[in-house]
Amino acid sequence: MRSDVENTTSGMKSEYDVVVIGGGPAGSTAAALLQKRGHRCLILESTSFPRYHVGESLIPHTYSTFDRLGLLPKLRASNFPAKYSVRFVAPTGKEAAPFYFSETLDGERAQTWQVKRSDFDQLCQNNAREAGVEIRSNTKVSKILFEGTQAIGVRAETFGQPPQDIPASVVVDASGRATVIGKQLGLKRDIPGLNKSAIWTYYRGGYRRPGIDAGETTVFMLPGRGWFWYIPLPDDVVSVGIVASTEYLFRHSNQYEDIFSQEVSLCKPLTEWLTAAESIGPLRGIRKLAYINEQVVGDGWLMIGDAAGFLDPVYSSGLFLALVSGDLASESIHQALNDKDYSKSKLSSFVPTLWEGVEVIHRLVRAFYDPDFSFPDFAKRFPDQRSTLIDCLIGDVVGRDMTPFLMALAEMTEPPAPLHT
Ligand SMILES: Cc1cc2nc3c(=O)[nH]c(=O)nc-3n(C[C@H](O)[C@H](O)[C@H](O)COP(=O)(O)OP(=O)(O)OC[C@H]3O[C@@H](n4cnc5c(N)ncnc54)[C@H](O)[C@@H]3O)c2cc1C
Repeated sequence: MRSDVENTTSGMKSEYDVVVIGGGPAGSTAAALLQKRGHRCLILESTSFPRYHVGESLIPHTYSTFDRLGLLPKLRASNFPAKYSVRFVAPTGKEAAPFYFSETLDGERAQTWQVKRSDFDQLCQNNAREAGVEIRSNTKVSKILFEGTQAIGVRAETFGQPPQDIPASVVVDASGRATVIGKQLGLKRDIPGLNKSAIWTYYRGGYRRPGIDAGETTVFMLPGRGWFWYIPLPDDVVSVGIVASTEYLFRHSNQYEDIFSQEVSLCKPLTEWLTAAESIGPLRGIRKLAYINEQVVGDGWLMIGDAAGFLDPVYSSGLFLALVSGDLASESIHQALNDKDYSKSKLSSFVPTLWEGVEVIHRLVRAFYDPDFSFPDFAKRFPDQRSTLIDCLIGDVVGRDMTPFLMALAEMTEPPAPLHT
């Protein structure tokens, strides 16, 4: 392990190779993998874990990163419901056949988990700590420090103490929706045409399917409006949330309670599933879910997970992208640290692979919300693309040539402008 690392750009002595802003899944993943490869990492986390977070449903292609992190034994031993499938339900209550991950994956890789985020994120953070990462809780990064275009560290404030400047060779922004670097550099943008909002809450005692379907994600479709997620969690708790256009959701009221109860009452099959359930609240919401940073890497800095961008909850891709971006970025940072080259071009070697995959998810999100498009119709018209479609839904989109699939998709739904031009 290295210490008293010379920050070649600033000449300042630095105890850390890498400072990570935010100790969520993305930050913990990158820091743990870098620390395991002999680099000194510091995570600065503004809250104290365990802390609440939305986003409870994993997809199977997180498996390899969990394996590299050494997290699989802990996940197997957890009380998180195993998730084998996803099912769509029409407003009439008619259920589509569930889509089991075992259709395209074998063995344990064909299952994943529904996670209580306070416990899951703590698990990831503890894993980073066990790998040797130093973690400072209740410590908020207020500023990235630059010399010219080169990031040379951060200014951080631990509750009740004066601000401290912490130099590092590489600054990783894993601050989630806070997007610390994106805001400081004015890089954060809306995604035109993707203007969804969400309201969600928790119940105890909602309907749960028997057997291996007990941990299934159910998507209740609200044609022309949006959709509800129904995610079974430990202790008989279920997470229920609506995603719809911001104009629709807040057209009559700004009160989450009024809007949510009205929408639940309009969705008959969901109402039935919640008949015997007790609401354990609270109601939470986010207006305008989607955003992107027009640049995600610079000299001495990069963004991972939600700090780089967020599209939509519909394919449960957020945690997958947090984990996979932390994983891929750690490889680029490792190379940069070994070569003592912290330039944008060196640090960005993971970007094309990752963002081609994100672009595929973007295309699928836009297709989902296109009222003239349906995935069953797509599978009927392009039967040879059905297995690739399933691969997309389990997260197998990074590092693959998806050109034939995307060309077929373009015949049925107009491609949106790319996220990064
Ligand atoms: C409504 C909704 C539903 C979702 N559903 C799903 C789902 O079912 N499945 C799924 O996979 N994903 C889902 N997501 C997305 C998922 O929640 C995120 O993609 C995931 O949490 C990203 O992880 P992260 O580590 O990048 O960020 P986070 O988990 O947000 O972690 C960022 C951390 O940075 C800390 N931080 C922030 N600012 C600072 C600062 N200045 N200094 C220090 N620390 C700071 C925060 O306290 C936080 O702990 C959903 C998202 C939304 C909005």
